[in-house]
Amino acid sequence: MPDYNKLTNLAKDCGFTNYAPLDIATLHFMEEVRDMCNPGKCDRYDTSWSCPPACASLEEMRRRVLSYDAGLLVQTVGQIEDSYDWDGIMETGTRHKINFGHMYDELRKDNPSVLAMGAGACSLCETCAYPDSPCRYPDRASASMEACGLFVSKVCTDNGLAYNYGRDKIAFTSCFLV
Ligand code: SF4
Repeated sequence: MPDYNKLTNLAKDCGFTNYAPLDIATLHFMEEVRDMCNPGKCDRYDTSWSCPPACASLEEMRRRVLSYDAGLLVQTVGQIEDSYDWDGIMETGTRHKINFGHMYDELRKDNPSVLAMGAGACSLCETCAYPDSPCRYPDRASASMEACGLFVSKVCTDNGLAYNYGRDKIAFTSCFLV
C-alpha cells in the first residue's frame, strides 16, 4: 500500500486544497461519461492526444488500473463571485493545472509508472502536436478523468470527498494512481 502520509503531504505542498485516498474499486469507466467528449458536446474532441478519439479506450483504462494498488484524489477549490465568474473559474483552473503538474513531476521521481488523470485536456503545449506529430511529452501528458469515462462527482463522494462546495466556490478534481 502507498504511504498516504507522504502522498497527502506532497499534495498539500503542491498547493491542493483537499485530498483523499482513492479506492481503485470505485473507478468505473463509463461510456455515457465519455460521450460528453463527443463532437458537438466538447470543442476539444479530436484536437489533442489526451482527448477522444486519440486517448486510451475505456477498455484499456479498465485494464491499466488493474496494475495499481491505490491512489489519491486531489482538489483545488477556489472562491468565485457566482457561477458566471469566468475569471475566478479560470484562475482556479489554472492553479489546479500548476498544482497537478508539480505533483505529477514529483511522483514520477519515485513512481515512474504513476497514472495521472487530470481536469480538462492536457495543456502542456501551447498547441497540441495532434494529429500531425507524436505527443511531445508522452510521459507527462494526461487525459482528464471525464475523458477516461469517470463520473467525477461520484468518484469523489464514493471516496469521502465533497464535489460541490457551494455557489461561491469552484472545485477542480484530478487523481493519481500509484
Ligand atoms: S504533451 Fe503536448 S502534444 Fe502531448 S497531449 Fe499534451 S499538449 Fe498534446
